[in-house]
Amino acid sequence: MNPGDAYEPVIGLEVHAQLLTRTKAFCSCSARFGDEPNSNVCPVCLGMPGALPVLNLKLVEFVLRMGLAVGSRIAPRSVFARKNYFYPDLPKGYQISQHDEPICAGGGIDIDLPGGGKKRIGLTRIHMEEDAGKSIHDIDAGTLLDLNRCGVPLIEIVSEPAIGSPREASLYLSRIRQLVTYLGICDGNMEEGSLRCDANVSVRPRGTASLGTKTEVKNMNSFRNVERALEFEIGRQVRLIADGGTVVQETLLWDAERNVAIPMRSKEEAHDYRYFPDPDLAGVTVDDAWIAAVRRDLPELPEPRRDRFTRELGLPGYDADVLTAEKGVADYFEATLAALGGREGAVAPQAPHIASLAQRAKAVSNWVMTDVLRVLSAGKTSVAEFPVSPARLASMIGLIGNGTISGKIAKEVFEDMVSTGEDPRAIVERKGLVQVSDAGAIERAVDGVVASNMPQVQKYLAGNDKVFAFFVGETMKTMKGKGNPKVVNEVLRRKLDALGR
Ligand code: ADP
Ligand code: MG
Ligand code: ZN
Repeated sequence: MNPGDAYEPVIGLEVHAQLLTRTKAFCSCSARFGDEPNSNVCPVCLGMPGALPVLNLKLVEFVLRMGLAVGSRIAPRSVFARKNYFYPDLPKGYQISQHDEPICAGGGIDIDLPGGGKKRIGLTRIHMEEDAGKSIHDIDAGTLLDLNRCGVPLIEIVSEPAIGSPREASLYLSRIRQLVTYLGICDGNMEEGSLRCDANVSVRPRGTASLGTKTEVKNMNSFRNVERALEFEIGRQVRLIADGGTVVQETLLWDAERNVAIPMRSKEEAHDYRYFPDPDLAGVTVDDAWIAAVRRDLPELPEPRRDRFTRELGLPGYDADVLTAEKGVADYFEATLAALGGREGAVAPQAPHIASLAQRAKAVSNWVMTDVLRVLSAGKTSVAEFPVSPARLASMIGLIGNGTISGKIAKEVFEDMVSTGEDPRAIVERKGLVQVSDAGAIERAVDGVVASNMPQVQKYLAGNDKVFAFFVGETMKTMKGKGNPKVVNEVLRRKLDALGR
């Protein structure tokens, strides 16, 4: 038997999300990413003696947004603690964090299981924290320090040891990414480190309840790396135990180049950090009015939005999933639909083929899911930078709906819009792409095609209906793709069938 079948993994994730506040957690330095190194620092975030921290209330508001979105209990009073350790990127010698009394406890995040169904991953806690600086290892200059990140606010979301596979871990992480971006509290960028994940993992005989000794894997900066690192570490632990060894509690660093996790240090225990309440900061008090205000301002969350897309707009579940995966894409979709007449269907008279809300929603969904997302993923850009505005995409879809251009020509117009950003009507005019629906013009084209393809006509009349597609293709070619397909089909049938009488 494969030893992997006898054991099952248990995974718990600690996810850090860097918050999009304007200033740092305890001083008024800018929290912006990517500024000149060491330009956003002051006595407070550098830990100069006597400098006193002042809590940024945006940090509390942001953690409350997350806590309320995932159903955590909010502590009326919580406490900041100092987590003490020595490292060159930590000039204060401690990080301000929360220990015994975090602001949020409990709650959960639902994931869609690969095999169907949902699973709720329970949360242990969500707490507030400040970031440390960044060491930059340069071949020529040696180790350099950028302290801009010191004091940038983070939340840490700690899951229960309840994640059952590397795939589940990555699905859970993408749910968190989706949530924090919907909530507008973090940009969710894993490559730049604004969303970071430490993965704790142990294995145990399948079907047993107690937990094995865990290791912690760090340094995975993509969803794919989280999965690969966990697969690696689970395999290592299973083989170790199957060979009669024991897992040692330690911290490992994922090396994505070599596809291995390398031991970094033996795991420190909480007492190694000598946590104690920060004497410079009062506790955080959150009253019901504050909670109510934050709750009132929560945006529509991914799951309700997805359900609304299927219920109100009649979209298939698959479309709703794809469209709501990212808030920006869902916003773009809805803006396009609104420009196309939204619920009212204001442009319906000009676009009779997409007169109902469900038809318009599906038409917009098709363009966003296939063409817009294809361009975005090819260019690795976000929808915010997409050159075609919702209004312009809507007007192009309107041109198809009212028969001005065919769906096929629309693909060409779309590509043109992506590269020039021009108005679709201007492109159609400039390139002479207006669809020909005039029966007279189509009849002339059909007559020519029929006359020069008599052998195929014989086959058609002998009952071979497959050659019909050939005639459609030839007619379209003659008309440079601009024939209205519906009219072309009608005229062809009529003319060909007439020849058989
Ligand atoms: P530590 O004190 O080492 O930081 P915690 O108890 O704070 O450990 O847990 C950190 C994370 O590790 C949590 O997400 C938790 O669910 C997970 N975890 C704890 N024990 C185990 C275990 N035996 N196997 C897998 N994950 C675990
Ligand atoms: Mg911990
Ligand atoms: Zn500062």
